[in-house]
Amino acid sequence: MRRLVARLVAAALVLAIAWWVAHLTGHVGATVAGVTIEASTPVALVALVLLVLIVYGILRLIAAILSTPGRIGFWRSRRRRVSGDLASTRTLVALAAGDANAARKQANRARRLLGDTPQTLMHAAEAARLAGHENEAEALFERLAEHSEAGFLGLRGLFRQAMAREDWAAAADHARSAASLRLPGSNWLKAERAELAIRTGNWRQAIALSGPDAPKASFGVAAALAEPDIDRAIKLAARAVKENPGFTPAAVTYASKLREGGREVRAQAALRDGWKLNPHPDLAALALEGTPDPAQRLKLAARLIRSNPGDAESRMLMAQSYLDAGQVAEARREALAARDAGLNQPRLWKLIAAIDARDGTTTPPPGYDAAEPLPMSADPGWVCEFCQTAETQWQPVCPTCKTPGRISWGNAPRSKLLAG
Ligand SMILES: [Zn+2]
Repeated sequence: MRRLVARLVAAALVLAIAWWVAHLTGHVGATVAGVTIEASTPVALVALVLLVLIVYGILRLIAAILSTPGRIGFWRSRRRRVSGDLASTRTLVALAAGDANAARKQANRARRLLGDTPQTLMHAAEAARLAGHENEAEALFERLAEHSEAGFLGLRGLFRQAMAREDWAAAADHARSAASLRLPGSNWLKAERAELAIRTGNWRQAIALSGPDAPKASFGVAAALAEPDIDRAIKLAARAVKENPGFTPAAVTYASKLREGGREVRAQAALRDGWKLNPHPDLAALALEGTPDPAQRLKLAARLIRSNPGDAESRMLMAQSYLDAGQVAEARREALAARDAGLNQPRLWKLIAAIDARDGTTTPPPGYDAAEPLPMSADPGWVCEFCQTAETQWQPVCPTCKTPGRISWGNAPRSKLLAG
């Protein structure tokens, strides 16, 4: 309604102006180069308006012609950007699908269309890595590392490459450079630096950088074993025991470092504490180490197991110690108690056979049937929980699969035991 009123008012105004112009009196005359033009005032006014409109139209036309190349350039660059974005998207899809050839092709196309942006460099580097062209990827990561905003991405790529080829010095350099940028991603950097510390055996740094789920007791044991200063080694081992009190390698390392530092009484106490929580042959071996006299060994064994005499492992230790000391009846009593506690392993039956050989008797296993012997579980040992490889001794990192903190006491699958 308002619009209608406004249009009616405008029409009335135009009519009024036209009427006013049409009724203007007088003449307008001009003489140019001897030619005189005369017209009535209304005609002269209309001619003037037409002239202004024509000049305005010509100026617009000239401006449009002059701006045409710019418009074409804008249109072309817009088309390149759209095509480049599409190539980038296709690179990501090919990377996710593991299609190295397609990823490289699309990444190169994106670089041609969009230039060397952090995004195109990153995609091209990842595509090169996927295709196994590590040198090409390295050169691209180096270019990316020079970028003021995205340098962290380049350093991250270089760091990962160095880790993959186990070039620890280069990895440490890249990690330091990335840390100095102080960019978001420091959590990632912390985890990667912890991984580097583990790979290079820098256990104290591994403890400092690792997250709460890391096997810090294992790292602590490794740090104590690698520490040349005995007091510092004892402290590191004590911390590992505190971290995981039932962890045998921690108790063994703590006790052995105490012994090395001349603190034998505390060493034996540490072994007893370890036995109380988790009886283990390694604790017994260390407790009796350096004591050749069988009677003395029997005493030490009895002291060690005092807190936990009914455990099958305590029975095994006492049976062996009694046998070594020539107390065959006691040895048999302890061995059979171990058997009754559920131990059914070759080491026990070897011990029983040795006891039998000493007094000329024969002790068959429970329910023994010569025609169909009971299945016997294998002797326990150190086994990687991750790759199931049996190891002769505990280690902080599995030598086979490089997984840290996963070697534990148990049974490996028979195939792995035979292979190992
Ligand atoms: Zn392993």
